[in-house]
Amino acid sequence: MAKTKKPDPRPVEPAGSLDEVRAAAQDCRRCDLWARATQTVFGAGAAHHAVMFVGEQPGDVEDRAGEPFVGPAGTLLREALTEAGFDRSDVYLTNAVKHFKWTPRGKKRLHEKPNRGEVLACRFWLEQEIAHIEPRAIVALGATAAQTVLGPSVRVLRDRGTPIASPLAPLVTLTVHPSSILRAPDAESRHAARRQFVADLRKIRKQL
Ligand code: SF4
Repeated sequence: MAKTKKPDPRPVEPAGSLDEVRAAAQDCRRCDLWARATQTVFGAGAAHHAVMFVGEQPGDVEDRAGEPFVGPAGTLLREALTEAGFDRSDVYLTNAVKHFKWTPRGKKRLHEKPNRGEVLACRFWLEQEIAHIEPRAIVALGATAAQTVLGPSVRVLRDRGTPIASPLAPLVTLTVHPSSILRAPDAESRHAARRQFVADLRKIRKQL
C-alpha cells in the first residue's frame, strides 16, 4: 500500500493528458481497494471548465459498469441536476475514491465507507482530474467528498450550498450525497430531502 500524506489544498500540476491519467488509474495499487473491486471507476463527463461533482465512491452498479453515478443514487443526481437547470453536457461526475469498497451480506455487496488512508491515497487521482479540467466549480456530495475537497472543518448540513474559499476552483461548495436521500426512512422525508437537494443545486447554479 502506498504511504499516505495529509492533503495539500493547493492545485497540482497536470501530468500527461486526462486520457493518460484515466488509463493509468486502471492499474492503480495505491491502496488495497482495487483487489476486491471489478475495475477503477474514473470520472466522466465534460472536460474543460466543467462543473465538477464529487461523490464518495462507486457503488455496486458503477463497479460493474465502470461509469460513475449510473446506479440509483446517480439516477437521482442526474434528474435533480436537470430540475435545477444544469446543462448535463457541462458537468463532470467523479468520486473521491475510485474503487468500490464493499462488505458481503448474503449474495449482496453492501457499501462500506472508505477509511482515511484510502481517501488520502485516492486523492492523487482527484487532484489530477481537477488539474486537467480546471473546473469552474466543484460541488462535493456528502461528508467524505466534502472533507476530501475542503478539509475536516466543513459540515455538510451546516455548510450545504454555501461557497467555501478554496484555491481549487472559483466556486467550491457542497451538499448532501444523493444516496442519503434514498436512505430516508419514509416517502415523506425522502420527498422533503429531495426537494432540499434540488434547492441546494439551484442555489449553487445561480452562483456560477
Ligand atoms: S481506491 Fe483509489 S488509490 Fe485505492 S487502488 Fe483504487 S484508484 Fe488506487
